[in-house]
Amino acid sequence: MTAIASSNQPPPTDAGAHMHALVAELFPLCRSITGNGVRQTLRRLQQEIPLTIHEVRSGTPVLDWTVPDEWNVRGAYIANSRGERVVDFERGNLHLVSYSRPVHTTLSLAELKPHLHTLPDQPQLIPYRTTYYEDNWGFCLAQAQLEALPEDNYEVRVDTSLQPGSLTYGELRIQGATDDEILISAHCCHPSLANDNLSGIAVAVALAQFLSRVHNRYSYRFIFAPATIGAITWLARNQDIVPRIRHGIVLSCVGDEGMSTYKRSRHGSATVDRAVEHVLRHSNESYRVLPFEPYGYDERQYCSPGFNLPVGCLMRTPNSRFPEYHTSADHVDFVKPHALQDTLGKLHRVIELIERDRSYVNLFPYGEPQLGRRGLYEGSRGVPHLHGYELALLWVLNLSDGSKSLLDIAEQADLPFSVILRAAERLEAARLLAPAAPSVPTAATRMAINQGAIR
Ligand code: ZN
Repeated sequence: MTAIASSNQPPPTDAGAHMHALVAELFPLCRSITGNGVRQTLRRLQQEIPLTIHEVRSGTPVLDWTVPDEWNVRGAYIANSRGERVVDFERGNLHLVSYSRPVHTTLSLAELKPHLHTLPDQPQLIPYRTTYYEDNWGFCLAQAQLEALPEDNYEVRVDTSLQPGSLTYGELRIQGATDDEILISAHCCHPSLANDNLSGIAVAVALAQFLSRVHNRYSYRFIFAPATIGAITWLARNQDIVPRIRHGIVLSCVGDEGMSTYKRSRHGSATVDRAVEHVLRHSNESYRVLPFEPYGYDERQYCSPGFNLPVGCLMRTPNSRFPEYHTSADHVDFVKPHALQDTLGKLHRVIELIERDRSYVNLFPYGEPQLGRRGLYEGSRGVPHLHGYELALLWVLNLSDGSKSLLDIAEQADLPFSVILRAAERLEAARLLAPAAPSVPTAATRMAINQGAIR
């Protein structure tokens, strides 16, 4: 029989504090879609999990894209005529537009202004801006500071390099009892932004640490890659692995205090979609489910029609829907240890559900078997009562004809998966239930599933 998760213990209660400390430690690094900030981030993660770091050379064709030149920063500032640095990368990496090309010149305020980016509606905050695929440079600052800048001649120095190098991403695979894989993906290309990128990284690391310690039915693949180009690069290099991915979740913005949000995969009703929605529905907390849209994080790439993987996106408050998004207010303090802990707990329940979901066959299908005689009713023999459990016994016996999984039964009975699972385990122990013969899809079937021909 296949091994399943050996522990259904929830993550330790101090996991939130550990994840938050990792967010704080990684926060100052100047990440972008390439360069040393990503490398340093991934090397730090190697102290937590045995991550493999891949380097893909600039110029490498990846699907319809090309791996760009590598960008690194030595320093960048704007100084007034007295030599005072009024904007300085050293004071915060959001000040420099990511992928700014090198420049060293002196400009009037009017000449400088087209290169300055602010948030007029949030005058105290510094925006996050990029110029990945345009040959440009710029600085970001608070609107209040811009308004206070006097006429002057400003020295502009952008000491960056933009030259052939490589794109860096990290990957960890945890072997399970089968080669079928669950994909967990987080982007790692944002500089000092805590909720948008670091929260997803921290939760993914904590989940990987947990899954490394237990026996899993599925194999797990964790990808830490720059958004868009990183996921496209991984997909381009791993097309033979794609058919093994049975379920997947992108993690992003999972550390704020907003309610949990799940964005469905392109399938809409894949097992992962149903599993996440089931866990959220039975969490006794508010939550939000969004339909798939081809905008957002790397689910866009995994759910592109050629791959069409069953990959959804787990968030708290979604991107663009919180005022701190892509600003200097997405700071370490915006991410809360209890929110990270809550996300990890829910993710753990989703994984537990997918690991344990399977079909059974009722071995006594003619009339209801006599449950009391077998000591299956709780409250008897000192077994604590579990709400819905006795009803769950009847549902599991009635619907276990081999065609319905425990998740199917939990949904039809409108009972938590954990209660249905407990009933199935006890019915199996009483020899009233047996696992249905596993139906192992062939690689060709899986390809058809992935391409949407089969559900
Ligand atoms: Zn972002």
